[in-house]
Amino acid sequence: MEHFNLDYLRLSIFLGAFGLLAIAEALRPRRKMESGRIGRWFSNISLTFIGVVLVRLVLGTAAFGAAQFAADRGWGFLNDVNLSWPVESAIGFLLLDLMIYLEHVLSHALPFLWRFHLVHHSDLEFDVTTALRFHPIETLILMFYKIGLVAALGIDPWTLVIYEGAYIVSTQFNHANVKLAPSVDVKLRRFIITPDFHRVHHSMEAEETNSNFGFCLPWWDMLLGTYRAQPAMPHNVMQIGLAEYREPEELSLPGLLLVPFNPRMGGYSFGKSEE
Ligand SMILES: [Zn+2]
Repeated sequence: MEHFNLDYLRLSIFLGAFGLLAIAEALRPRRKMESGRIGRWFSNISLTFIGVVLVRLVLGTAAFGAAQFAADRGWGFLNDVNLSWPVESAIGFLLLDLMIYLEHVLSHALPFLWRFHLVHHSDLEFDVTTALRFHPIETLILMFYKIGLVAALGIDPWTLVIYEGAYIVSTQFNHANVKLAPSVDVKLRRFIITPDFHRVHHSMEAEETNSNFGFCLPWWDMLLGTYRAQPAMPHNVMQIGLAEYREPEELSLPGLLLVPFNPRMGGYSFGKSEE
């Protein structure tokens, strides 16, 4: 399939999920918004836009290309094993999600990565646009990582397309400010990451920020000991964001683009300032 059609497919999945979740947020909000929506939405959407342009300029459509290149040459261990496509694809999906979970854990543990990742955590609210709030350089780093992964693991191109679709829908859903009935949440979070599950990760409390790292599947947190079922404070009053970054100038679009390069910042990892 042409790369253009894949872009179109990704954009349609993104806009469809975004539209539905924005409507759901208006109808059944989980928390009352305190900061205005316009400034935040502008910053969050702009960050993704800049990130997409940056990745396109540096890498083109390299992830799909890398998957195809590896498949053509039989690289990557999934290209070596002889399994039916659905089994191979399911294994590929699980491995990709696990590796992206591990990258997220590292982006909290390593100060160099945290510098960029803190932009995502600096949002003072938690809604569907928080899923778009990533520093463009973090988006680029993640893309390099993904290209390495698909080549090393031998993820086939269509599994990558399925994973990317699931990733777009899942990250927007699990950041949405939508209220789900507790009984529904309990059942859903056995299989997918719900907004209440992921909101814990955006808590201002460091030990809560350093839990619930998953993107699509909740099982990695549950298996690897980083799962925290609920925040200490109730969801509707818990504090969102980072204690160190709450000033409007720092949280403007230029402020967010520059914050990783702030020499004052020092090391900051696992929620503790080392200044
Ligand atoms: Zn994080």
